[in-house]
Amino acid sequence: MRVVVNTAMSADGKLSSRQREQIAISGPDDFDRVDGLRAGSDAVMVGIGTVLADDPHLTLDDPERQSARRDRGESAHPIRVVADSKARTPTDARILDDSATTYLLVSESAPTERIEELTGTGARLITAGDERVELDAALSALDSEGIDQLMVEGGGELIFSLFEDELVDELRVFVGSKVIGGRDAPTLADGEGFVAEFPELALDDVERIDDGVLLRYAVG
Ligand code: NAP
Repeated sequence: MRVVVNTAMSADGKLSSRQREQIAISGPDDFDRVDGLRAGSDAVMVGIGTVLADDPHLTLDDPERQSARRDRGESAHPIRVVADSKARTPTDARILDDSATTYLLVSESAPTERIEELTGTGARLITAGDERVELDAALSALDSEGIDQLMVEGGGELIFSLFEDELVDELRVFVGSKVIGGRDAPTLADGEGFVAEFPELALDDVERIDDGVLLRYAVG
């Protein structure tokens, strides 16, 4: 499986404000680029923090990209994936609607009644890890389901864990021309942070898009 992390951050490295509300960091050309990247992915993944904050849909905007996928014998939209150890995804979350298949990655600690409620929505559940989703095992399970290209959109907690577990192959960051600030605002990689053995990136490409810059890095 190839894992591409794609995210938009402010010039000071924030993914959103301290109120964790979604902020428009990029513009129309970058939204279109992200739509294209989603279209070329088998699945798009976020953490439960992003689901609770933004209620994202994670489907394709462009109907032509949807029909191109259908022409290739694929579903119109990529599969959606949520890392959600305690099965906290609300049953009315947009990510659970019937426009695409959704996998919820949960842990053994998820309450049984939540598992039953979420299974009832048609979501597919994968259990990996005791207290928290063990990402290595969960991604291996997704790989066995035929997911080769996984795009990860955030947020900072999930992205940090993926780096910590050495699961990221490529990082694409759009840096918008805005300062958000706030010590408690989510950044590209939150979690505990590294104190040694910092993941090394190799800068592959720099491109000006809208009023910002897209940085593409290979990882490791
Ligand atoms: P997140 O990374 O979306 O989700 C974090 C949660 O995922 C954890 O609290 C944890 O909750 C769950 N999780 C399950 N297994 C995990 C693991 N192994 N490692 C880490 N997390 C795991 O949440 P966030 O960091 O709070 O980010 C949300 C913010 O990011 C929102 O404000 C959103 O607007 C912003 N965002 C911005 C962009 C952008 O491109 N600018 C993109 C996405 C999100 P459990 O323990 O309950 O499972």
